[in-house]
Amino acid sequence: MERDYPYLIVGLGIAGLSLLRALEERGIACFVADAGDAHAASRVAPGVVNPLAGKRLSPSWRVAEQLPAALAMYRGLDRLFGERVFHEMPIVRIIKDEAQRDYFEKRRAQPMAQSYIGAEYAPGRWPGLFRDPLGSFEATESGYLDVALAVALAQRHLEQAGRFAKARVDASQLDIRPDCVRWNGMSFGKVVFCEGWRAMGNPFFPGIPFKPAKGEMLTLRAKGGELPGFPKAIVNRGKWILPLGEGLYRAGSTYSWDILDETTSEAGAGIVLAALKEFVDAEFELIAQNAGVRPIVKDYRPVLGAQPGQPRICIFNGLGSKGVLAAPWLAAQLVAHLEEGASIREMDIVRFG
Ligand SMILES: Cc1cc2nc3c(=O)[nH]c(=O)nc-3n(C[C@H](O)[C@H](O)[C@H](O)COP(=O)(O)OP(=O)(O)OC[C@H]3O[C@@H](n4cnc5c(N)ncnc54)[C@H](O)[C@@H]3O)c2cc1C
Repeated sequence: MERDYPYLIVGLGIAGLSLLRALEERGIACFVADAGDAHAASRVAPGVVNPLAGKRLSPSWRVAEQLPAALAMYRGLDRLFGERVFHEMPIVRIIKDEAQRDYFEKRRAQPMAQSYIGAEYAPGRWPGLFRDPLGSFEATESGYLDVALAVALAQRHLEQAGRFAKARVDASQLDIRPDCVRWNGMSFGKVVFCEGWRAMGNPFFPGIPFKPAKGEMLTLRAKGGELPGFPKAIVNRGKWILPLGEGLYRAGSTYSWDILDETTSEAGAGIVLAALKEFVDAEFELIAQNAGVRPIVKDYRPVLGAQPGQPRICIFNGLGSKGVLAAPWLAAQLVAHLEEGASIREMDIVRFG
């Protein structure tokens, strides 16, 4: 059967973009439809790639597989777009308390964690800039993806190829036939929903136990301009701050499970600014504030694969709070599953029946 495209990708966040690239790498060209929600996580997230996350500095889930895939894809995007979207830089971790110091000692002795630990600094490394009474260290193989820019450039690239529609795809618009799915006058082999937290309203996937978390982050201007001596690094002490150049910085993020919306709040800004005050000796002016919702599933694992009983309707979701690190590897897993039947183990949607 002749189909217009083997895949319709619904949603162009980091999940949709990673899937697009994984399919293109196999020579499979897809059509993408995206609603362009201004506050989608991928349009507001700072896109930090951090192999040693959280207070315990534990290596992220499957980081040894995810990190090389992420670095390869994001370096490739720089080349593809001819524009810098991936900013490689270390993450300076300022040790927050004695408990974290203990975790650090433990990680330093573990070969896997150790491979992401670079320079270590004694207290007082940044006089007049950061307060670091328990010292600090650099996490390596890290940086941030300008996700909003990457997604915007991918959209332009698709528009030029005539493979993009700005549209919200509703389940009721899909005509599922034995040999294809029809939407908007075109036919597809499969439809993959990459909708982020909005998948909670998708009637094809009612059984997924989502537990999304709202986050807010800030764009700040340092009073008096660029902070002298600020390293070319993301600096993290629970909350983080990253330099954008010309005296501008991004900082974040908050976590909240109670109110699920994409609006900013004074309380959110207050939490981030108060956390910065604890370790940065500088005054900031608030320039902008963003909010978005992280698509988290209750078991903190991604959710991939075809809807049970309906192999043409698939999902790529549950990227959680580390979607930028995870998405390229997950996309490759999903493509191997859809194209060759490879196992996707604990990520498979079938775990929800
Ligand atoms: C404040 C904040 C900070 C974060 N910081 C980081 C970080 O530093 N590092 C990191 O790795 N991760 C971070 N995350 C998490 C990360 O942003 C997410 O894991 C990731 O962006 C999710 O991507 P996604 O493509 O699944 O969903 P989304 O980014 O939500 O994208 C979904 C896309 O699909 C479109 N869409 C939805 N439904 C439809 C439909 N029916 N039809 C058509 N289009 C549709 C939307 O408009 C959107 O463009 C952060 C998230 C937040 C909110």
